[in-house]
Amino acid sequence: MAPVRVYNFAAGPAMLPTEVLEIAQAELTDWQGSGMSVMEVSHRGKPFIACAAHAEQALRGVLGVPDNYRVLFLQGGATSQFAALPMNLTEPGDTVAYLHTGQWSIKAIKAAKKQGLTVDVLADEAPSNYTTVPAAGSYTVPAAAKYLHYTPNETIGGVEFDYIPDGAGVPLAADFSSTILSRPLDVARYGVIYAGAQKNMGPAGLAVVIVRDDLIGHARATTPDVWDYAAMAAADSMLNPPPTFAVYLLGLILDWIERTGGLTAMAERNQAKAAALYAAIDDSGFYRNPVDPTVRSWMNVPFTLADAALDADFLKEAEAQGLTNLKGHRSVGGMRASIYNAMPREGVDALIAFMTDFAQRRG
Ligand code: PMP
Repeated sequence: MAPVRVYNFAAGPAMLPTEVLEIAQAELTDWQGSGMSVMEVSHRGKPFIACAAHAEQALRGVLGVPDNYRVLFLQGGATSQFAALPMNLTEPGDTVAYLHTGQWSIKAIKAAKKQGLTVDVLADEAPSNYTTVPAAGSYTVPAAAKYLHYTPNETIGGVEFDYIPDGAGVPLAADFSSTILSRPLDVARYGVIYAGAQKNMGPAGLAVVIVRDDLIGHARATTPDVWDYAAMAAADSMLNPPPTFAVYLLGLILDWIERTGGLTAMAERNQAKAAALYAAIDDSGFYRNPVDPTVRSWMNVPFTLADAALDADFLKEAEAQGLTNLKGHRSVGGMRASIYNAMPREGVDALIAFMTDFAQRRG
């Protein structure tokens, strides 16, 4: 009997491509003829060093990372980078600028506030209940700021920027956790890009940091080496054993992205999936998404039912059809369908068919 795979709409850890999991499964107990899994080999041995180099090269190739950027594989997820970013780019007393568009950007802001900085929040989308992004040109970045930080995709609110903010000479730092690899990305516009892996890049724990050369080497003396961009760059991210399985899986995922047409094709599929789901919501008269249509996320689609008393039934019936983890974030309520790269079009179509049927029966 073929193994049963559900359509997992979790926001992260999220669905991974079945094809990739099958490759990992096939070589799990005997990786490259070693008689060991990739988790059991030394990170200092040639095979794993080549595996990590492949993941980096594939990431550089897929994203088009310019030569004057370093790619770092760090631990602690994206949350660690909320603190590592200011630790690497500032001294106490410095000014930093942030755009506040929801629950992930506020976490980044709070981490910066712990570091003795003047944290200038240039825009706060509270008045729209975080269903908008600040308009380009509606805020001024202080020239003295060490960086401007923003969250291109707010995973909880389902809001994404439809433009790249202009740092006006100040380096741009971005938390790409829930949108990296979903479409082409102009890395050269950024000073620092970071992302937790567990949405579009593999297992949880790994944080990928892409940092421009001139921003490396300015860490505070108190910065732990494992989060010091210079120390980790000098050690090829292997000061201590990296999350080897996560790095290996990232390489497999990037190979899969290349095989399936790269980021341009990925963007087309993602946009089409999102458009179909939003259309189904908007046309239903039963479901509702609160986000400004110009900044609706391709990756995370929150929606409510006309009557919240039906939520439990909706979730139970969806689950029975193999549509799992649709419950919305506790702070927002309702539902959330995360439709990252690995969610096939068939999964989105199955969700739409279920939603339409449910609304007809219960609406
Ligand atoms: N930023 C965003 C936008 C996220 O969605 C998340 C996780 N959901 C994080 C940061 C935190 O990442 P991690 O769990 O890897 O620490």
